[in-house]
Amino acid sequence: MSKTLRLVLGDQLNSHHSWFKTVDDSVTYVMMEIRTETDYATHHIQKVVGFFSAMQEFAAELQLQKHQVIYMHLNDDNNLQSFEKNIRYLIEKEAFTLFEYQFPDEYRLDEQLKKLSQSLAIATSVCDSEHFMSSRDELGDFFQGKKTFLMESFYHMMRKKHHILMEGDKPLTGKWNYDGENRKKLPKDHKPTSPLVFQNKVTHIVSEIQKTDIQTIGNIDANNFVWPINRKQSLALLDFFVTECLALFGSYQDAMTPNEWSLYHARLSFSMNLKMISPLEVINRAILEWEKNPDTIAYHQLEGFVRQIIGWREYMRGIYWNKMPEYATMNYFNNGNPLPEWFWTGKTKMNCLKDAINQSLNYAYAHHIQRLMVTGNFALLAGIHPDEVDAWYLGIYIDAIEWVEITNTRGMSQFADGGIVGTKPYVSSAAYIDKMSHYCGSCFYKKAVKTGDKACPFNSLYWNFYDKNEDKLGKNPRIGMMYNVWRKMKPEDKVALLEQADYYLKNINNL
Ligand SMILES: Cc1cc2nc3c(=O)[nH]c(=O)nc-3n(C[C@H](O)[C@H](O)[C@H](O)COP(=O)(O)OP(=O)(O)OC[C@H]3O[C@@H](n4cnc5c(N)ncnc54)[C@H](O)[C@@H]3O)c2cc1C
Ligand code: SF4
Repeated sequence: MSKTLRLVLGDQLNSHHSWFKTVDDSVTYVMMEIRTETDYATHHIQKVVGFFSAMQEFAAELQLQKHQVIYMHLNDDNNLQSFEKNIRYLIEKEAFTLFEYQFPDEYRLDEQLKKLSQSLAIATSVCDSEHFMSSRDELGDFFQGKKTFLMESFYHMMRKKHHILMEGDKPLTGKWNYDGENRKKLPKDHKPTSPLVFQNKVTHIVSEIQKTDIQTIGNIDANNFVWPINRKQSLALLDFFVTECLALFGSYQDAMTPNEWSLYHARLSFSMNLKMISPLEVINRAILEWEKNPDTIAYHQLEGFVRQIIGWREYMRGIYWNKMPEYATMNYFNNGNPLPEWFWTGKTKMNCLKDAINQSLNYAYAHHIQRLMVTGNFALLAGIHPDEVDAWYLGIYIDAIEWVEITNTRGMSQFADGGIVGTKPYVSSAAYIDKMSHYCGSCFYKKAVKTGDKACPFNSLYWNFYDKNEDKLGKNPRIGMMYNVWRKMKPEDKVALLEQADYYLKNINNL
């Protein structure tokens, strides 16, 4: 009699996958909490707990539907703590005749499972995870022969292909992109909607983790775990987003303000990255809400949201599969400095960084502009080695899975890919952070001061970055204006700026 073993990875919790359409007694699903996954980076405690909780909920749901499931808990005696060992053990013990898995989204796991299935003595097969709206190779095929991979062109292709916000082959309203109408600072007296949070009790998982020597970072309230851990909660969060946040999503997408950790952001990346909900259903739900309420939800808010998901999210995945494994070693600026110690504690006098890091430690979340223009901006200006930057981002965020973390971090944020993802580095002085936030007013450092006592470190590090990298950036037409300003600066002002930057870099752990 044929017996099939199907592996479900922790980020493959797609209950709509065709695997689960029929209940078949000859098929057994296996899910495992293993040390190779908890230990490949130092993860935030909420990330480990979030994955394990969602996996346990998913396994229980499958069992309720009468599917056969083997679930290996972290401290189970028979858990051999690696995919390979556990699968070999199960195949032998239960005499499986076929091993199946879905394409993993991480290069590391893809290689591991490919190698494993080639070496097994039984038949094996692999299938799609049925989540994304583009295939692994689609971006590579679309840009074949091109030197640059422009997200905007990919986004237009995706809108046309899936017929989303289109009128025939033209964009609805005649315009593709409404970015110009978004990105405002939050008015001083504006109180954002309080985020919908869950009160999941996860004490059992936290105590299992505490029994091991797994290293984690960050904080958790195990009686009130705020993240969605199943499809039902993910759908509730989606509902909350479209009814309470979408109407101001685009407007305040780039805004930052102290003590407000989510503003009008969706916080759906965790649910989507684990595949508890699909990108298509997220977009369709947002479009439906806009169709029902065109007077309260302006089109530019909707378009901005749709672009993040069918544009940026799918684009980053395409870049990942097109450029791995080389991508993971790229270091265009040859940066080599270590990450400041306070990235792990939040203990810095720099208000913007203190807020973004403490929030990340408390919620395992920061929104895009905090990641890009506060922590990422600082890391690039300070010449931190991209490996260290990647390790931090991969560990600290609940939604961090390599395909979307590394492309955003090494690519978009650190420009370590030399311009595959971005056309110029995302760096700024204090002026941009002040323009988009309310951090600077109460900061120890002075936003308008460039040198001397209490000068904001972003200011001198910004010019130091351009000076140091002139050979690589000097001819970039998108930055030409900055080099004109730099070249026209008085020599003594330049020297003072570079000396200030040098001082800060030498004393980086005390900033
Ligand atoms: C340095 C850096 C590291 C990042 N690391 C990750 C990561 O590990 N995992 C991750 O999912 N995202 C990452 N991002 C992208 C983005 O910041 C997060 O997807 C977003 O903050 C998640 O919060 P949200 O669901 O509230 O997003 P919203 O702001 O509400 O956006 C809606 C959705 O759009 C998608 N999206 C938006 N921007 C991007 C983007 N640049 N790339 C991919 N998807 C996007 C996400 O699925 C997100 O849920 C990173 C960005 C930067 C600059
Ligand atoms: S003054 Fe500088 S360090 Fe302080 S909050 Fe503003 S940008 Fe950040």
